[in-house]
Amino acid sequence: MRKTVDILGIPVDAITMKEAVDRVGAFVSKGGAHAIYTPNAEIMMAAQRDPELNEILKNADMLVADGAGVVLASKLLGRPVPEKVSGIDLVREIFKTYASTGLSCYLLGAKPGVAQEAADRIKAKYPGLVIAGVRDGYFTEQEEAEIINDIGRSSPDLLLVALGAPKQEKWIYKLLGRLNAKVCIGVGGTFDILSGRMRLCPDFFRRNGLEWLYRLCKEPRRARRMLDLPRFILRVLYARVTGR
Ligand code: UDP
Repeated sequence: MRKTVDILGIPVDAITMKEAVDRVGAFVSKGGAHAIYTPNAEIMMAAQRDPELNEILKNADMLVADGAGVVLASKLLGRPVPEKVSGIDLVREIFKTYASTGLSCYLLGAKPGVAQEAADRIKAKYPGLVIAGVRDGYFTEQEEAEIINDIGRSSPDLLLVALGAPKQEKWIYKLLGRLNAKVCIGVGGTFDILSGRMRLCPDFFRRNGLEWLYRLCKEPRRARRMLDLPRFILRVLYARVTGR
């Protein structure tokens, strides 16, 4: 039974990292197709404006709280999630836990070359893990059919989709039934980090809920989008006060 916290109408799983990893294992054993997303404050706010994204998140098989903003929101609502479960950490824990079982993984997304570099590093670090395929995230609609066929032929346990939000969520939702992958996760900029091309936010910032500050300094062009973080918290406070 899923235990979720309703944050602005979106059911975020109240789950620890270990429970999330166990759930992924259960999805793989069970078969079928499962969608997992890792919403942060920006995505939660985007879902307030975009009914399609809202619907997609509501219909996910698991939503983990990626980021201090979502964790704080759950606390403000009096139903705290046990911990932050970021996309990059979840992916690494899945590899660590299931590599020895021969888990197969398809990497779709990021700039040309990046997914392959990430795959090479993952293979070296997590022996046993099977790379079922890689493909960059810049493709035309015409190329999409071939990508779907390639994923279908390799039938991975896990399909990581790194097309950025909300593109990856919409892509997974649209194609979930045709992908022949047991678990699909929208993972944002994860391949850039796994490939070593981008540095993960330092521990100090991660531990203190300041990833947004680090990201703002590294990518000032995101400043406008990042205003969604305070907007999100204000919206949650409003919901708390009005009971809506
Ligand atoms: N990306 C992609 N195809 C696209 C747009 C983006 O593969 O059409 C990749 C991009 O190269 C990056 C990842 O998506 O590796 C996530 O980008 P960003 O950090 O902007 O996403 P967000 O943090 O918003 O999810």
